[in-house]
Amino acid sequence: MPGEGPLSAPVMLVGEAPGEAEDAEGRPFVGRAGRFVDQMLSQIGLKRARVFLTNSVKCRPPQNRAPRDVELNVCREHWLDRQIDVIAPRMVVLLGAAAIRQRFGGALRLSALHGEVRTHGGRTYFLTYHPASAMRFPKIGKAMKGDVELLKTLLQANP
Ligand code: URA
Repeated sequence: MPGEGPLSAPVMLVGEAPGEAEDAEGRPFVGRAGRFVDQMLSQIGLKRARVFLTNSVKCRPPQNRAPRDVELNVCREHWLDRQIDVIAPRMVVLLGAAAIRQRFGGALRLSALHGEVRTHGGRTYFLTYHPASAMRFPKIGKAMKGDVELLKTLLQANP
């Protein structure tokens, strides 16, 4: 499930992996987490149709387990880096630990990293939580809302 969106998308969202609903439909973020993504996009004022949505790994891991490092690395090399090169978005939003680890490696403490802007290979990345954690834990939901507000300000400052 490679993802979807226009080649001219100014923003790319990178989740973790397709879930059951995404696997069945062949489209990213159409299940429960997708509703959160839709709210997030409306908070920023971006239409879903203008954003490129994809995931760190392109296949649903068995029993929804977390993607392994080898899977993250293979999918980055063969898919995500190429998608980023072709689409060349102004901002790549990494949603959650898997997407952040896939790009930046190492051990992560999302509570310390969320809301950060980083550059890598000439691209700009925004680091935040995964929608599923934001829906599950009210504290994370609140922190992520703040991140999304910051993202909105960043995007408006550099149209
Ligand atoms: N969670 C993700 O990380 N990606 C999806 O596409 C759906 C749920």
